[in-house]
Amino acid sequence: MSEQRSRVDASSWQGFGTKAIHAGYEPDPLTGAVNVPIYASSTFAQDGVGGMRGGFEYARTGNPTRQALEGNLAAIEGGSYGRGFASGMAATDALLRATLRPGDHLVIPNDAYGGTFRLIDKVFTQWGITYSVAAVSDVDAVRAAITPATKLVWVETPTNPLLNIGDIEALAGVAHEAGTKLVVDNTFASPYLQQPLRLGADVVLHSTTKYLGGHSDVVGGALVTDDEQLDADLAFLQNGAGAVPGPFDAYLTMRGIKTLAVRMDRHSDNAEKIVDYLQSHPKIESVLYPGLETHPNHAVAAKQMKRFGGMISVLVAGGAPAAQEFCAKTEIFTLAESLGGIESLIEHPAAMTHASTAGSLLEVPPHLVRLSVGIEDIDDLLGDVENALG
Ligand SMILES: *Cc1c(COP(=O)(O)O)cnc(C)c1O
Repeated sequence: MSEQRSRVDASSWQGFGTKAIHAGYEPDPLTGAVNVPIYASSTFAQDGVGGMRGGFEYARTGNPTRQALEGNLAAIEGGSYGRGFASGMAATDALLRATLRPGDHLVIPNDAYGGTFRLIDKVFTQWGITYSVAAVSDVDAVRAAITPATKLVWVETPTNPLLNIGDIEALAGVAHEAGTKLVVDNTFASPYLQQPLRLGADVVLHSTTKYLGGHSDVVGGALVTDDEQLDADLAFLQNGAGAVPGPFDAYLTMRGIKTLAVRMDRHSDNAEKIVDYLQSHPKIESVLYPGLETHPNHAVAAKQMKRFGGMISVLVAGGAPAAQEFCAKTEIFTLAESLGGIESLIEHPAAMTHASTAGSLLEVPPHLVRLSVGIEDIDDLLGDVENALG
């Protein structure tokens, strides 16, 4: 057997929190262990040649801890098939290789995650792939960017770091009209806040490093789809290229997912209060948050998201030096890349996460600061922001 299936039927469970805690694993029949064991085994004994006991032969192809995570991922995104990868970028790489051939074209957001842009621009273009950029919030611009060679429309919503919103249902319509697939990078929202497959997307991508893992202690990626052929192609690449998560990584990610629902509510509560504070601060030019009624795509966000999440971006008055000073002065908000963990982080995208976009169409404003609001006590977080802004 070369590819494991991770099909789950969690459709009888209504609640997201219930699926997040239970899907993908049942207490071990032998020991009763309520959590999936970390199967630290690279190979599995066979009873006679080809006689696998539990469907496993070699851990690049499949491992029971990873399989439990993959079933869970499928369930929480409301999809049929889930695949785990060693990082969000490994998932991105596998999806691009599964869907594109030399001569093909894809459409990407004009403010895509810097690493996604870098991989496409620096690596995939070398193999004859071309791309166009369009604002995800502008459905007509995305439609206009599609060519007869387009095989994939790549969307992030909310985008990183500008928190623009794409209308997933409308974009799925545009992609399907043109005979292409829509992928949604759902890293910023998490499946608790937004489920792109239900809105017509063909595949959902996650950096599980962020909200799904949720504790800044593991790097991982995921792809979820209802498309059986695409899933088989992804499984082939998991085994054929090998960018899979190890069993401890899979375990940590699954452990994180169990509390996703309560964490996302707290992230959203805290972010809303910090947005309120920042909006009236004289040193802040503008606050970018899809929950604000003044956000240009607020109506779309309200239609497709349960709440608006823990990510906030701000434009700081006084340019890049003022932005860097704000980042340097917070104490609870740690100056670091990444996002989505229980602890609050702050960063300067132009010099950090999005430095690779300098001079390109995806360049970010120099006075932009991105905050990943954690789940600490709100009064401490507000005090920290207040002190840092002076
Ligand atoms: C972090 C991130 C990625 C890349 O994921 P890694 O796990 O760091 O490889 C992709 N997309 C978005 C939106 C991200 O924030």
